[in-house]
Amino acid sequence: MEEEHSQDYLFKIVLVGDSAVGKSNLLARFARDEFYASSKSTIGLNFKLKKLVIDGKEIKAQIWDTAGQERFRAVTAAYYRGAVGALVVYDITRRPTFENVSRWLSELNSHSDMNVVTILVGNKTDLKESREVSTEEGKALAELESLFFMETSALESHNVVAAFETVVKEIYDILRRKVL
Ligand code: GDP
Ligand code: MG
Repeated sequence: MEEEHSQDYLFKIVLVGDSAVGKSNLLARFARDEFYASSKSTIGLNFKLKKLVIDGKEIKAQIWDTAGQERFRAVTAAYYRGAVGALVVYDITRRPTFENVSRWLSELNSHSDMNVVTILVGNKTDLKESREVSTEEGKALAELESLFFMETSALESHNVVAAFETVVKEIYDILRRKVL
């Protein structure tokens, strides 16, 4: 019996970054195409499932949100466990959130035994007047750390789908190269 179509892909992807950079809104935008003016600060873990079709294959992206854990610098090991992809998010209007990126990268690396496909995301491009981190600086850091890079606006739905899809496509490509 051939089961060509039975293969199912499930990728765990985590969102990390300082508090209030827009992680929850990016996920809400991607998962349901909605934007929340204020967001919940429930403590605990949660994730959303989003189905994507790549190469005619259905892929489930299981995207985890910190749900406020990062506020207390208490993102648990369970949060990172099994993650194959990550979005490291900063707010282009708050330089300290960009300066903390390296801290998030080392936390991510210390919790994962494999190479996690990571994209650096500079969010809130709609707030042009308040920008504190240039596009060039973001790009340079991404190159230095060998990460994908994109600037987004969860508010204007700019590059949100593209950022998540970049990660999912790369994971799929790596997997396919291993199988072939
Ligand atoms: P989190 O703590 O990283 O999950 O951040 P949230 O998603 O809760 O967002 C924090 C705040 O930033 C909220 O007030 C959002 O409305 C706001 N926000 C998130 N994304 C954007 C964006 O792209 N543009 C603007 N202007 N505000 C945003
Ligand atoms: Mg949040």
